[in-house]
Amino acid sequence: MRFECQPGCTECCRQQGFVYLSEADLVRAARFVGMSAARFERKYVYRTRNRLRLRIPRGAHCHFLRDSGCGIHPAKPTQCRIFPFWPELVDKPRAWAKTAAYCPGIGQGPLIQIQSARAQAEEMRQEHPKLYP
Ligand code: SF4
Repeated sequence: MRFECQPGCTECCRQQGFVYLSEADLVRAARFVGMSAARFERKYVYRTRNRLRLRIPRGAHCHFLRDSGCGIHPAKPTQCRIFPFWPELVDKPRAWAKTAAYCPGIGQGPLIQIQSARAQAEEMRQEHPKLYP
């Protein structure tokens, strides 16, 4: 598989869906914006019984999405950093091809070894065990 994120593109941030956070993601993002984790959570996070996700009003985009890209890029959630090497996409040619319909980075750049893609998918599983039981 080939993949290289394309400069200036924010298509993955504009897709419908949830941005899940691990507890570590929450702490890292809060620190990056200069807030306590508790305050960041109150302002930006929706916590259910077993999941955390960014509050994104229906029909809106991520609060941190800027015209120039992710506003918390150095501290962005694991889910965003690892995309498109998510467990539900790696080793799933049809899902990968469907994702390529909106991600122009798929099919570009150097060859990515499948072991490397799987390692990233595994990191996602480890970070979100409740999403990938
Ligand atoms: S859609 Fe693909 S190319 Fe565009 S920002 Fe996301 S990962 Fe990068």
